[in-house]
Formats: sequence, structure tokens, C-alpha cells
Amino acid sequence: MPTSQPLPKVVVPPYDKNNVFARILRGEMPFEWVYGNQYVMAFRDIAPVAKVHVLVVPRGAYVNYHDFIENAPANEQLGFWKAVDHVARELGLAENGWRMVANTGKDAGQVVPHFHIHILGGEPLGPMDNPPRQN
Ligand code: 5GP
Repeated sequence: MPTSQPLPKVVVPPYDKNNVFARILRGEMPFEWVYGNQYVMAFRDIAPVAKVHVLVVPRGAYVNYHDFIENAPANEQLGFWKAVDHVARELGLAENGWRMVANTGKDAGQVVPHFHIHILGGEPLGPMDNPPRQN
């Protein structure tokens, strides 16, 4: 694909200040704390799909990955990705490996409209197509 073509414009829906992660960040809801710094908070997923299932969310208000990459200042982006590395290592996942997932938009089934990544691990995770597609 030629690199000179302009990329399709990303249309980001308005940020919903009352999404569940915004409320967790404001301390309005209980959560199981894993890690925090000036850029991120990390906490256990309420419905884990692996032995270790942690969410890392930026403190800033970004709807999804594209919004974060387009609009977050460079220090927030670097701080976020370094925190993901920190959390995975602190949880003892680096040696055996782990999976990073960032559901983005409706086809991915993104439920919470505040950018976040899932850290999954602590056991063999199986193939990515588990469960297999139905069509
Ligand atoms: P998404 O599909 O948006 O990538 O994933 C959102 C994740 O947030 C889901 O895995 C879901 O279990 C988790 N989640 C939803 N509500 C809460 C909550 O109130 N607390 C925590 N800790 N996790 C939540």
C-alpha cells in the first residue's frame, strides 16, 4: 500500500465522563488496585478471563486507542506504555509471557469507552481463536 495516501480520518465519539473507568479513576467506585502513577491506574478486571487479568487505563480522558494516539501528549503515551511494561513485570508475567489486548470500537466489542489495555496471563492462554468463530 502506498504510504503517500492520507489515512482515513478517525471519528472518535464524544468522551462519556460517566463511563465506569472514569468513575473508578475519580474514586467513585470500588476496584482492586494493582498499580498507579501520574499517568495510569491498573486494577483487576471484575470478570477475569485468565488467571491474571488486569486493566491498565490512562488517567487522561481518551475514548479508544486512536483517540489516545492522536490526542494524548507524548509524555502521557510513553508513561502509559512504560507502565504496562512495569505492571506485567511486577505481576511476574514476563518470564512465561502474557497477552495484551486493546478492544477498539464495535467490531472488537469494546464495552467501556475509556481507552484501556487488558493484561492477560498467569497460565497458558491458548490460541487467539478460542472460542473458534461460528461463521
Ligand atoms: P472492553 O471490552 O471494553 O475492552 O473491556 C472492558 C472490561 O472492563 C471487561 O473485561 C469488564 O469485565 C471490565 N469491567 C467492566 N466493569 C467493570 C468494573 O466495574 N470494574 C472492573 N474492575 N472491571 C470492569
